[in-house]
Amino acid sequence: MLTAASLALTLLASSLDGTSAVNRDRHPRGRAASTITVGGIDRGRAFPPFSEVTTAVNRSLPPIVVAMAADPNVSPAVVRLVAEEANAIFRAAGVRFVWRDRPESPASLLVAIDNEPGPERESSTPLGWLVFENGAPTPRIHISYRNAVQYMAVSREVIGVVGAKTVAERETLLGRLMGRALAHELGHYLLATKEHTAKGLLKRAPSAQEFFSPLRSAFTLDAAECSQIAARLEKRLDLAGIVP
Ligand SMILES: [Zn+2]
Repeated sequence: MLTAASLALTLLASSLDGTSAVNRDRHPRGRAASTITVGGIDRGRAFPPFSEVTTAVNRSLPPIVVAMAADPNVSPAVVRLVAEEANAIFRAAGVRFVWRDRPESPASLLVAIDNEPGPERESSTPLGWLVFENGAPTPRIHISYRNAVQYMAVSREVIGVVGAKTVAERETLLGRLMGRALAHELGHYLLATKEHTAKGLLKRAPSAQEFFSPLRSAFTLDAAECSQIAARLEKRLDLAGIVP
């Protein structure tokens, strides 16, 4: 059963969970990423201008082009907030993202926000996941809108009753939660590691308080992690995409 107090991050490949996890160290090599389906992308919908919220620090590093494919039941406002949260978390590391709203766009990474339940778990519900193959991260990150909504509902001790909130309040919390889940998976991807750390962005088990706090201080990268990401971006230009 989900409880707000027993949140755990679990790397299944690397997956961010919304409950305590029993099998934290299992790293299935399944091909879940290759089976991502994103239902009903509305290509005509006007997504927010992601380019305007791109991070602006350390422009010497190539930006990472990310195609964001969101299910139609995820509001454009939430999608924008997710991108902004990820931007803000990585800004200190000098990492910039360029967000695209079409999965077929030239991009180095695909982020799917949909209603997938996620990898089967014994006692946890993943908020996001990333599959590794042959020890390397595949360029597909999944964020489960369904599981995020469920996690919000059971976090009432931290955020109150969701049904009593305005649409804007609810979207702010959802964007924050999913944006931090996405940043966690981006951390696994950019650092090419399935490992977790005692604190910071790759902490295994942030609390609901940390997930929903207006402050994002629990989701930081340390200096060594920033250096590693910068080195990888400089050497591996394929991590970044083509920016016209
Ligand atoms: Zn993780």
